[in-house]
Amino acid sequence: MSLKQAYADPDLAAAVLTDIRRFAARIGRPIRIMEVCGTHTVAIRRAGIPSLLPENLILISGPGCPVCVTPTGYIDNALALLERPGVVVASFGDMLKVPGTSGDSLSRHLGDRGVRVLYSPAELPALAAATSGPVVFLAIGFETTIPTIAAALLEAERQGCDNLFVYTGFKTVPAALQALLARQDRSLDAFLLPGHVSIIIGEEPYRFLEQPGGVPGVIAGFEPLDILDGIRAVLSQVSAGRHTVENRYARAVRPGGNPRAREVMHRALEPCGALWRGLGWIPDSGMSLRQGLLHRDAAVRFELPPMTNAEPAGCGCALVLQGLSSPAECPLFGSLCTPERPVGPCMVSSEGSCAAAYRYGEPAP
Ligand code: SF4
Repeated sequence: MSLKQAYADPDLAAAVLTDIRRFAARIGRPIRIMEVCGTHTVAIRRAGIPSLLPENLILISGPGCPVCVTPTGYIDNALALLERPGVVVASFGDMLKVPGTSGDSLSRHLGDRGVRVLYSPAELPALAAATSGPVVFLAIGFETTIPTIAAALLEAERQGCDNLFVYTGFKTVPAALQALLARQDRSLDAFLLPGHVSIIIGEEPYRFLEQPGGVPGVIAGFEPLDILDGIRAVLSQVSAGRHTVENRYARAVRPGGNPRAREVMHRALEPCGALWRGLGWIPDSGMSLRQGLLHRDAAVRFELPPMTNAEPAGCGCALVLQGLSSPAECPLFGSLCTPERPVGPCMVSSEGSCAAAYRYGEPAP
């Protein structure tokens, strides 16, 4: 049996589900667990996990997709860059399809304007070297992606690629969890913590969850059994009245994370406040260029206006990203908003809640 098959073993899954039902029955009240990782969202839907859970156990998706939490104003500014003569805008694919305030998107300008799709930030120095005008990279992502972009920037600096700029829209996860936890209207009992992000940051940045008023936080992997095991660990804590940070993905996540990746990240970038779609402005939840790299800041070089957060008419993404609404509760879901004709980013990104619900089905509320 391969490792992948082992983590989808139906007998083991049945045993874990028995534990989950036992804990849920003992707790007796509704329990809402938020996953804050788009890969978890997709894995949960793909495996049909919600349909296996007891009625009082509700999985809700949070702000776990970096494309989805990027404000509309960021897209508007990226589109405005295309108006500048000779400017090439480079991005990962999903970002291109997100509509800006006007409904326009970068993907509509593929081919006729200066838009390039990248598969890895490592391509940036070569792209800049092969381009005569300025190249602006749309630098979004969580802690999982940020170190590789930082490494590419440092390499571009080493090679003297003077025409490479970045428009930073980075987000860091722990501050967003703190903001969600501090909300008056919060309706969550625990976090399923992101496996990929945790590989970089480790366990320590989540310790605030252990303070009074905190909730259980369980780091989980991405196979069906990983997720069920994470849910069982959450329920075990709720049942015992505990709220600690628990690492159930120890085969990939070390307690101290990846210090080398963080060192590269912090050599190029420093913490800053950031605007999140749905969550608004959160202090210390982003990363901006350090002093020595400010000459590569596209916002400064091209005098881009501050980002705004206006949602398209009727779009429920802001509520979905806060876990206050499910995709199916959005009036546009599946009718006016589909993967082919997305209105909001949650339907664009392969890791978006709405795209996952559309593809794999939305469980009955
Ligand atoms: Fe946003 Fe479309 Fe999802 Fe509605 S269905 S919340 S408009 S992405």
